[in-house]
Amino acid sequence: MRKLNGENVKLAIQKEGRLTDETLNLLRTAGLHFESYKQRLFSACRNFPLDILYVRDDDIPEYVAEGVVDLGIVGRNLVVETQQPVDELLALDYGHCTLTVAVPSDSDITDLSQLAGHKVATSYPVATRRFFAERKIEVEVITISGSVEITPALGIATAIADLVSTGSSLKLNDLVPLATVFESQSLLVANCKLGENERKAAIVERLLLRLRGALAAREYKYIMMNAPRAALPRIFAITPGLKSPTVLPTADPDWVAVHTVVREDVFWEVIEQLRLLGTQGILVSPIEKMFI
Ligand code: AMP
Repeated sequence: MRKLNGENVKLAIQKEGRLTDETLNLLRTAGLHFESYKQRLFSACRNFPLDILYVRDDDIPEYVAEGVVDLGIVGRNLVVETQQPVDELLALDYGHCTLTVAVPSDSDITDLSQLAGHKVATSYPVATRRFFAERKIEVEVITISGSVEITPALGIATAIADLVSTGSSLKLNDLVPLATVFESQSLLVANCKLGENERKAAIVERLLLRLRGALAAREYKYIMMNAPRAALPRIFAITPGLKSPTVLPTADPDWVAVHTVVREDVFWEVIEQLRLLGTQGILVSPIEKMFI
C-alpha cells in the first residue's frame, strides 16, 4: 500500500459531493498535477510537495484543527458549526450558500420574533441556537441530518434553518425565507500551528500564490480594442485596468489599440459603454493565471 510522505503538506478535501469538482478544478488550474479516480483515498501531487486526502467534508474542520492534516478545503458553514479552531487562509469563491430560516408560504409567521415557543428543524443546531439566542428569541431547535425542508409539512417543526444556494429547494417545498443566519462559501483553512513548521509554512505560501493566481484569473477578462485617440481619457475612466491600460499606435494616427483587463462582474456594462465611445473590434480572452 502506498504511504503518505510525512514531509509533504497534507490537504483534506471533500471526497464526493457538491464541492468536489470545483475543488479539483481549482487545484488543477493552480498547476498541480495529480491522479484522481473514484476509489481514491489520497493523491500525491507529482510536481508539488502536497498530498491530497479525500474525506467526508463534515470531518475536515476537526482533522485540520487536530493536525491530522495541515490544510482543508471546506464550506465556511462547517467551520462555523463545528466551532473547531482553524485559520482561514483564503476564500475560494465557490460553494456559495446561506443558512436561511424559512417558514411555509401559508404560515402566519412573517417575523422572526413570532417563532418564540416554536420548533425549528436544522442540520446546523449550533449556529441556529446561537442565532436565536443572540436575538433573545426562545425556540426549540430540533437536529435533523437530512431533508430538513419537509419537516414543516410533516408537522415536526414550524420553521427550518437550512442551507440555500439557488432557493429552488425552498420553492419546491413551498417555503419562504425569513432571515439569514450566515453566509458561506468554500474556504482554504489551516491548522493554527502551521506557522511553527517553517518548511511547511513556506510550501503553503507557494500554494497560496498559485491559488490566488488561479482565482484572480477567473475574476477578470483580457480585452483588446481599437479606439479613437480622442476617446482615451473616457476609456481610461471606464477601464482603469490593473495599473493602467496599454495603448499601442495603429497605422491610422487618429486610432490606437488599447489592451486592458475588465472584472467579470462588470464586464457587460463596460463593453456597452466602450461601444458608445466608438471603440471597434473588441476582442475578449479568458485569462489563465493572473498575479496582481
Ligand atoms: P454536500 O455535498 O451536499 O454535502 O454539500 C457540501 C457543501 O456544499 C456544504 O457543506 C456547503 O458548504 C456547500 N453548499 C453550497 N450550496 C449548498 C446547498 N444549497 N445545500 C447544501 N450545501 C451547499
